[in-house]
Amino acid sequence: MSQEAAIITSKPIFPGSLDATGHRATLGVLGGGQLGRMFVHAAQRLGYYTAVLEPDAHSPAGLVSHHHIQTSYDDPAGLAQLAQLCQAITTEFENVPAQALHTLAQSRPVAPGAAVVGIAQNRIEEKAHFSACADVSGVTCAPYAVLETPAQLAAIQANPAELLPGILKTARLGYDGKGQVRVQTADALAAAWAGLGHTACVLEKMLPLTAECSVLVARGWDGLVVSFPPQRNVHEAGILAVTHAYEGALPPALAERAREAAVAIAQHLGYVGVLCVEFFVVDDGSAHGRLVVNEMAPRPHNSGHYTLDACDASQFDLQVHTMAGLPLPQPRQHSPAIMLNLLGDVWFDAAGQLREPNWPAVLNLPGTHLHLYGKTQARPGRKMGHLTITGSEAAGVKAVARQAAELLGLPGQDAI
Ligand code: ADP
Ligand code: MG
Repeated sequence: MSQEAAIITSKPIFPGSLDATGHRATLGVLGGGQLGRMFVHAAQRLGYYTAVLEPDAHSPAGLVSHHHIQTSYDDPAGLAQLAQLCQAITTEFENVPAQALHTLAQSRPVAPGAAVVGIAQNRIEEKAHFSACADVSGVTCAPYAVLETPAQLAAIQANPAELLPGILKTARLGYDGKGQVRVQTADALAAAWAGLGHTACVLEKMLPLTAECSVLVARGWDGLVVSFPPQRNVHEAGILAVTHAYEGALPPALAERAREAAVAIAQHLGYVGVLCVEFFVVDDGSAHGRLVVNEMAPRPHNSGHYTLDACDASQFDLQVHTMAGLPLPQPRQHSPAIMLNLLGDVWFDAAGQLREPNWPAVLNLPGTHLHLYGKTQARPGRKMGHLTITGSEAAGVKAVARQAAELLGLPGQDAI
C-alpha cells in the first residue's frame, strides 16, 4: 500500500469537521471543467469546502467552488496552496501533468494517483495494462501495433492485412476522436503518421462494432470496489451523443461480463477513485457479439452523468467517498435513463445564427433533468451541458428523449 493510502485509510476525512487549525474539511480538484463542477457540487452537498486549481478565471468548477486557485496546473506556488488548503485531492481531466500529482502526493492523499493517471494518459501503456490483466478481466483490446520508429512502420507495412484497414491514434493527448486518422492502405498509413509529426502512436485494427458501452467503477483505499450497471453509448463524429442506461440497453450477459472486466481492470491497477472503462461490442457472428476493451478514463466520465439523476449515489458522490475514505456502499439505479449530450451546436440555428435553445418546451417534458455547465460561449462541438431523462419504464423514457432531441435539433435521433 502506498504512503498516501496509509494516511487516508487511517484517518477518513469527515465532512464538516475542523482540522487542528480550525479549518473546515476541504477537498481539492485539479482542473476546472464540468467534471470538476459536478464534483464540487457533490462535495459541497455533503458539507465539504472545496478548492479548484484552474488557470481559467471563468471555469465551470472555479465559478462554484469555495476556493479558486488561478494558476497553471504545474505552478509550484499554486500546488502548494492547494495542498495547504485541502485534506485530499483529486483530478477531473485526464491530461493533468503527472508531475503535479506527484508533487501533491508528497503531502496529501491524491486519488487517483500519478502512476495510474500516467498509464491512462498513454495508449501504449494503457493497452499494455489491458493485455497484462486479460487473463483476469477476460477481455482483450483490438489487435494493435505500437508505432514509434521507421522500423516499426516497415514491419506493419510488410504485413498490411494484419492491421489494415485501421485507425492510427496518437499515444497521448487524444480525446473525442481527436488525434486519430483512419487508414486503409500501407501508403496511407505512412502519410497519416507523417501528418501526425511522427509522434508516438498505436495502429489499431478497424473492428466491425455493433455497439459501444462503458462501466463506471469506484475503488476505495481498502480495495473495496463497487460499480454502476454498464451503459450503452452512441457517438456522433467521435463525441458521445447519447447514453442508454436501462435494463435491456445491453444484453444482460454481455453487461455482466463488462462489469466484471472493469472491476478486474481497476483491481489490477490498484486504482483508488472513480474509473470509467470503455468497451466495443464486436460482431463475431455470435448472438450478442464479443466484448473488446477500448480505453479507460481515470475520473468520472460523460457516459456516467445519468447517475446524477437515476441512481441513489452519483459517480461524483463516489469520487468524494473514495478520496475522503468514506464508506462505499454499492450504488443502485432506481430509474431507467437516457442522457443526451448538449454540444454548442444546439445554440446555433440552421443559418448559423446564435439562438437560445427552446428550454421551456424541453423542461415541460416529464422527467427531464437539465444540467448546464456555466460556459458563457457556445461553440460547435463544445460540451455545454447534458439532459437526462428518467421515468418509470424505458419505453416512456425513450419517447420523451426523442421529443427532447427533436426540440433541440440534436443529431442521432434515430439512435434513441
Ligand atoms: P477517444 O479518446 O477519442 O474517445 P477512442 O479510441 O474511444 O478515442 O475512439 C473514438 C471512437 O472511434 C470510438 O468510440 C469508436 O466509435 C471509434 N473507434 C475507435 N477505435 C476503433 C476500432 N479499433 N474499430 C472501430 N471503431 C473504432
Ligand atoms: Mg473513447
